[in-house]
Amino acid sequence: MSMKAFAAACVGMTSGMLWRGMATNQPSEPVDCATLTKKDMPEPPLVPTEFRKLTLLNVYNESPDSKVMRFAFPDGNQDCPGELTHCFALRFIDKDGKEVIRPYTPISRLHNKGYVEFLVKNYKDSKMGTHLFNLKLGDTIEMKGPFPKFVYKSGQYKYYGMLAAGSGITPMFQFLREMLKDKAQPEVSLIYANRRKEDVLLGNELNALMEVHRHFSPYYVLSDPPQSWMGGIGHVSKEMMKAFLPPPSKGHEVMIMVCGPPRFMEAISGDKNFTTTPPSQGDLKGLLKELGYSSNQVFKF
Ligand SMILES: Cc1cc2nc3c(=O)[nH]c(=O)nc-3n(C[C@H](O)[C@H](O)[C@H](O)COP(=O)(O)OP(=O)(O)OC[C@H]3O[C@@H](n4cnc5c(N)ncnc54)[C@H](O)[C@@H]3O)c2cc1C
Repeated sequence: MSMKAFAAACVGMTSGMLWRGMATNQPSEPVDCATLTKKDMPEPPLVPTEFRKLTLLNVYNESPDSKVMRFAFPDGNQDCPGELTHCFALRFIDKDGKEVIRPYTPISRLHNKGYVEFLVKNYKDSKMGTHLFNLKLGDTIEMKGPFPKFVYKSGQYKYYGMLAAGSGITPMFQFLREMLKDKAQPEVSLIYANRRKEDVLLGNELNALMEVHRHFSPYYVLSDPPQSWMGGIGHVSKEMMKAFLPPPSKGHEVMIMVCGPPRFMEAISGDKNFTTTPPSQGDLKGLLKELGYSSNQVFKF
């Protein structure tokens, strides 16, 4: 069995139904973009400079502790702002009057019309996760952005390696879905770590990408696997990284991306430096450093 078929066999169906698009009120006339002036361009639904309220339109369960949540723009014709890759800041005021702000990565398509969609994982005793999970359809959340993260330039790297854990898959997914269409076809491998099989997020979507794009291969790692599991077992190890990631010897042709909970970041790459505003990349540490990668070959989301 090929590594791709093997990886696909490891992860079954994980996502629920997909809600099909927002009805817009009017059929729109074709527009000649060249004749549009800035004044004619619709106001973006979200901006980086101020929080704006968006309404919860739809929710479905993705895993036992994560949900896909869709928030509507005021006008169904508005495009979601943001380039590859970006996140938004979500905010609410807690019962003690304190601001809670957390970054989330859209999983809806770039420039999607009418809504933005997030995959939200609810950690034990968490602030934002619990608040979002308690929202009812029609409730609102404050949001601002987009805030750029890793900026993709076609042809810049020949080999991408990705290491993600839990909800750390969301920036990887946003990136993969767009860049895999690039005619330059860089090779992309992903090591994705979770505790149980049912915790794997966007497994269907990742496998669908793998089926269409032969230059993409995901490898799933579980610390608490079911009996018949054929993927990686335990925590992400140097051996797995050597087997699935492009080696550091590929020099400036290689980019390794990392995203996950603090303990995962510490073990793999060292966490970001949160003492700066905005947080900076921090020193490269952990398994990537031990394997000989340099800091300019690594990006921490
Ligand atoms: C650039 C970026 C993009 C992100 N995109 C997403 C996204 O698309 N979806 C998403 O669900 N999250 C995403 N996150 C993480 C998110 O911003 C929050 O940090 C996370 O949801 C926890 O916030 P909270 O208020 O729910 O929990 P908190 O109240 O901050 O923490 C509650 C408990 O959970 C633990 N905890 C906090 N964060 C994590 C974590 N990531 N993994 C495991 N345990 C944790 C804490 O140690 C604490 O014990 C992203 C983070 C970054 C930096």
